[in-house]
Amino acid sequence: MTTLRSTAYPQTSAERDRWIIERRGPREPVETDKPYAFLVEDERFENGEMGGVATIFLTNRECPWRCAMCDLWRNTVTETVPLGAIPAQIMYALDRLPSTRQIKLYNSGSFFDRGAIPREDYGAIASAISTFERVIVECHPSLIGDSYDQFRSLCIPPLEVAMGLETAHPDVLAKLNKRMTLDQYAGAAHRLKSDGVGLRSFVLVQPPFMREEESLEWACTSIDFAFDCSATVVSLLPTRAGNGAVDAFATMGLFAPPHLRVVEAALDYGVALGRGRVFVDLWDIDRVACCRDCRPARLERLRRMNFSQRVLEYAPCETCGGRS
Ligand code: SF4
Ligand SMILES: [Zn+2]
Repeated sequence: MTTLRSTAYPQTSAERDRWIIERRGPREPVETDKPYAFLVEDERFENGEMGGVATIFLTNRECPWRCAMCDLWRNTVTETVPLGAIPAQIMYALDRLPSTRQIKLYNSGSFFDRGAIPREDYGAIASAISTFERVIVECHPSLIGDSYDQFRSLCIPPLEVAMGLETAHPDVLAKLNKRMTLDQYAGAAHRLKSDGVGLRSFVLVQPPFMREEESLEWACTSIDFAFDCSATVVSLLPTRAGNGAVDAFATMGLFAPPHLRVVEAALDYGVALGRGRVFVDLWDIDRVACCRDCRPARLERLRRMNFSQRVLEYAPCETCGGRS
């Protein structure tokens, strides 16, 4: 194991795929007739109203890419799920969730990956979600193609596609092994815009390969790039270890988790721009380091900023001055 972890990160994508897979732990046990999770959260909508959004985490075949920072493969299976399984998973969750205005169908990969979500199920899926005010799915930019067109033609509510930009730093993006360039991202975003489809961009705060002192600047540059691509929402994700590869980068000195003050400053920057909504993803925020004394107040500030989309005052802290 020591030898494995000390091996340098390879240069080619195929070798990187292998390197990343070799460092993985086991998958979680999942069932193809149930989503692996589902929940409801409040979110600020584009028109400024607050409302409930159901998120259904669909169980399906693993994404074909092997991005260095990704841990979504944990809750996937290795084969395409049977026909009917995805609509059944959606109904399973909707039967158990309170009613909401919007819905996210997140599948740990690309919704328009035919090996993940069979196209034959599109009609049943569209029917199951027809009464929502907005439907949000996720997709790699290179799969905004025929399947996307087919689903869009069936989907009655306005559609929004969440695409991981990850970072606008071209060299870091290449090393993340997403096999995507900034031009490809912009091209896919342009197509969504032409079709009247919303874009939600995911931006990593302090990804692997990025120097800590550059991370805020590149988070801000990435927010700018996403809005230049007509994103209506930018979601900031503090990069986390735990998928094997990122843990290995940490031991190699190529990754450190972002400090909360970097996450805060990136959110402050994005919200102050006023170009669209900017959220910080709080699902794993407990892993982000900061002063213990003011941590609860600062996390509450981030929650309130997500809702208000206003830059709020920092809570005073006698221990750290509220900023460490
Ligand atoms: S494209 Fe998305 S889901 Fe697929 S490996 Fe990369 S980050 Fe993970
Ligand atoms: Zn403090």
